Amino acid sequence: MGTQKSGTPGRGDGRRVDPPDVPGGAPASLLEPAAVGDLLRILREQGYRTIGPTLQDEAIVYDEIEGLGDLPAGLTDRQQPGEYRIEERSDDALFGYNLGPRSWKQYFFPPSLRLFAARRAGRGFEIEPPDADPPALALIGIRPCEIAGLDVQARVFTGGGHVDPWFAAARERAFLVAVQCAQAAATCFCGSMSTGPRAERGFDLALTELLDEGEHRFLVEPGSARGREVLAVLHPTPAGPAERARAEAATRRAESQLSRSVDGEGLPELLEAALEHPRWAEVAERCLSCANCTMVCPTCFCHTVEEVNDLSGERTERWRRWDSCFSGEHAYIHGGDLRPSTRGRYRQWLTHKFGTWHAQFGSSGCVGCGRCIAWCPVGIDVTEELAALRVGSDRAETAETEEAT
Ligand code: SF4
Ligand code: SF4
Repeated sequence: MGTQKSGTPGRGDGRRVDPPDVPGGAPASLLEPAAVGDLLRILREQGYRTIGPTLQDEAIVYDEIEGLGDLPAGLTDRQQPGEYRIEERSDDALFGYNLGPRSWKQYFFPPSLRLFAARRAGRGFEIEPPDADPPALALIGIRPCEIAGLDVQARVFTGGGHVDPWFAAARERAFLVAVQCAQAAATCFCGSMSTGPRAERGFDLALTELLDEGEHRFLVEPGSARGREVLAVLHPTPAGPAERARAEAATRRAESQLSRSVDGEGLPELLEAALEHPRWAEVAERCLSCANCTMVCPTCFCHTVEEVNDLSGERTERWRRWDSCFSGEHAYIHGGDLRPSTRGRYRQWLTHKFGTWHAQFGSSGCVGCGRCIAWCPVGIDVTEELAALRVGSDRAETAETEEAT
């Protein structure tokens, strides 16, 4: 695949990557928790399908929500490598958790999508058009790193010469209600990837949940003209310096809780030079090649296409389905599998995500959400693996220099 860069954003051309507007000093205001329910109602009346956090099977996952009662009030998540647990909070926070296993990519890059169908017509065939009409979605509670993840996928799916019509239309229509992070999970490392814990752009509205000093309110910042219009209907009260300071303190608290990081300095070059590093074999001893990390990752985009023929041979459908660089079939070409070993698969994943992605798409492929750490069944931690590769490479470089002198 050739190098792809994001195009100039434009309305209606199906190639928008950046948000329609940026905050530009728009004044913040305050909403009571009940007004979040009103916000959902208004967005639904405007034709949006409202998607937000829900508690399902002991995890917080995004799904359709209709009102305040659908939100996971008073719940939080505790995460560690290979571990995710729901716990009760001591307050009624509506967004008092971090990230669950499902990212928003399922709505922009569906796990399974019919691309087109073909029907026999005489000696030829007729093509039925692709399913490229996604609903207008309002994403309630999208986090700063997840906005960054959407931007990364926008560069993949709309930034080059071939625009994915589903992704472009879904992104164009989406209304983003961000929630600034007031706490960090032990698996988060957005700070070192410059993707959080506060979003400055990319949203229509951004909420900061204020829970200190016995209060429960939301500081709201509009980030687009659409956001300002919706906010006006809610009749918020102006926020004063004290509330703004409390909102800043909340995101500073999240920042201070970040315990993991990735040193991005020269990382693509380091990974390119570390292809024969012994660490790949060590991590392959633990890795199950299960593909969990790529399924939960908000930016992974590997997919395969399948032909589904009917029994009469009159009609066929072409489907696109999620795949993974960890799957045996993904690297299969005529004559065999390019990457038969777990060592090769893990190395491909990490070197693409943190290395060659830069040359291909102009940024890192990682936004520091930490999902791959929490949902790896054996607790493999990308931050630890990258640090180990760096230390080893430094030693290798020193040894080479000493040999040369
Ligand atoms: S590589 Fe891991 S931490 Fe980075 S974006 Fe993907 S799931 Fe999140
Ligand atoms: S790193 Fe973990 S989640 Fe990813 S394939 Fe290996 S075992 Fe599965």
